[in-house]
Amino acid sequence: MSKVKTRFAPSPTGRMHVGNLRTALYAYLIAKHEGGSFMLRIEDTDQERFQEGALEIIYRTLKDTGLVHDEGPDKDGGVGPYVQSERNAQGIYLEYAKKLIEQGDAYYCFCDKERLDSLRTTVAGKEITVYDKHCLHLSKEEIEANLAAGKPYVIRINMPTEGTTTFHDEIYGDISVNNEELDDMILIKSDGYPTYNFANVVDDHLMGITHVVRGNEYLSSTPKYNRLYEAFGWDVPVYVHCPLITNEDHQKLSKRCGHSSYEDLLEQGFVREAIVNFVALLGWSPEDNQEIMSLEELVQKFDYRHMSKSPAVFDMTKLRWMNGEYIKAMDDDKFYAMAEPYLKQVLKKDFDLKKIAGMVKTRIEILPDICDMVSFFEEMGDYDNSLYFNKKMKLTEEKSLELLKEVLPLMEQQEDYSNDALFAMLSAFGKEKNYKTGYVMWPIRIAVSGRQTTPAGATEILSVIGKEESVKRIRAAIDKLSCN
Ligand code: GLU
Repeated sequence: MSKVKTRFAPSPTGRMHVGNLRTALYAYLIAKHEGGSFMLRIEDTDQERFQEGALEIIYRTLKDTGLVHDEGPDKDGGVGPYVQSERNAQGIYLEYAKKLIEQGDAYYCFCDKERLDSLRTTVAGKEITVYDKHCLHLSKEEIEANLAAGKPYVIRINMPTEGTTTFHDEIYGDISVNNEELDDMILIKSDGYPTYNFANVVDDHLMGITHVVRGNEYLSSTPKYNRLYEAFGWDVPVYVHCPLITNEDHQKLSKRCGHSSYEDLLEQGFVREAIVNFVALLGWSPEDNQEIMSLEELVQKFDYRHMSKSPAVFDMTKLRWMNGEYIKAMDDDKFYAMAEPYLKQVLKKDFDLKKIAGMVKTRIEILPDICDMVSFFEEMGDYDNSLYFNKKMKLTEEKSLELLKEVLPLMEQQEDYSNDALFAMLSAFGKEKNYKTGYVMWPIRIAVSGRQTTPAGATEILSVIGKEESVKRIRAAIDKLSCN
C-alpha cells in the first residue's frame, strides 16, 4: 500500500468544536503512527456558513495542540491549492462533473424552486425532497438551449435505482444500502460551487488521501461517495468514521453546553496538553489502558483498529482530574506564567506570588480554582467558629481560644517571620507545653485563613501575610471566639 496520507478538512465556520479537534487529532495520529503525512484542506465552499476569523482559529488551534500539518495552504506539497474556493476558481470541480455528464453518470438539472417544492414528501415525520430524475430525460437540444439562455442549473449525480451499494468502514464494519434510497444528490450548486459531497471525493482522490477520517454524521452519505469513486474508476480510501461525542446526559455535545469547543476549554482554564490527551480518549483507549499520554506517546500507541463505535461521553470530572495531573507535572516557571493572571485577579497586596503559585500547583484541577483557593491571603471572609472544632486533635472552640491567647504574645515578640523560624518557634512552644504540633497549628490556621483546608500549612501562611497581618488576624480571632 502507498504511504499513508490523511487530511483534516475543516470548514471555517467558527470555534473549533471538540469533535473537529478529535477528527484532526485522529487523522494526525493515524498518519504519524504509520510514518505518513498529514494534510490540511480548507473546505469553504459553503459561503453562507463562512465566519470571519475562523481561518485563524484553525491555524492557531493546530499549532497550539502540536498537530503540525505537512502540507496545506501555507505549506505546498504539490497537490494544491489547498483551499476549496481556490480549487473551484481553477475549474477543477466543474471539469470532473462534466466528465461524469459525458459518461452518463451525472446530468444538468434546471428545475426551479417551485418544481422542487412540489416534490417534497414526508418520510418518518421528516420532510425530504427526492428528486424524480426529471431533467435526466431532457434532450441534448433542450439542455444546450437552456445553457445558452443562461438558465440557472445544478449538476446531479445519476444514481442507479436498482441494486445495492456496500462499503466498508474500519469502525462500523460493512454497510449496505439499497440504491433506490440514494437520492440524485447535487454535485455542483447553482452558485457554481461544489457541494461537500462532491468536493470531498474529488479532492481526496486528487490529493492522494489514503485514509478518510471524519465524524460519523457522514457515515450515511458514504455510499453516495462510493458511487462517485466507482463512476470515476478511482480507488476507495480507507474510511474511519469517529463515534459521536455526547454530554453526560447522552445528548450530542452542542454549542449550548458551554464547553463544546477547544477555545471554550482554554477559557475555562484547561491546559492544551490535557485537552489533547482527553480528546484522544473520546472513542479510543490504548491496550494497556494508560490514561496520561503525551502527543508522542499517542503517536506511538494510537491504533484506529481499536477505536470504539459507541458514543463517547465527555466526562467533565475526568477532564478536570486529567488537567490537574498535567498541572502537577508542569515545570514551575511555565505554571507560574499561566497562574499569574489568576493570582493577580484576587491578590492586590504585595505578596510573593511565585511562592503562592508553588503552594497551589499540586492542589488545583483547573487554573481558575486558584482564585478561590488563595483569596484569603488578601482578605479573610467571614467564617464560623465551629471550624475550630477538631475531634482528632481534641480541639474545641474554648481550647482554641486558650491556645491562641497563649500564642499571641509569642507572635508579637517574633521578629523572623520566615516559615522555618516560625515553625521552630511554635514547635518549641508546643514541646514546652506538651502540645502536639497539630494541636498548635490547627487553631492558628483557622484564625489566619478562616478555612480548614488551605494550600499551605499555618506557618507558611503566616510567612506570606507577614507579622502585622498575622498578629491582627489572631487578635481578631481571639475577639471572635471570646464573644461566644
Ligand atoms: N468540512 C467538513 C466539516 O468541517 C469536513 C468533513 C470531512 O472531514 O470530510 O465537517
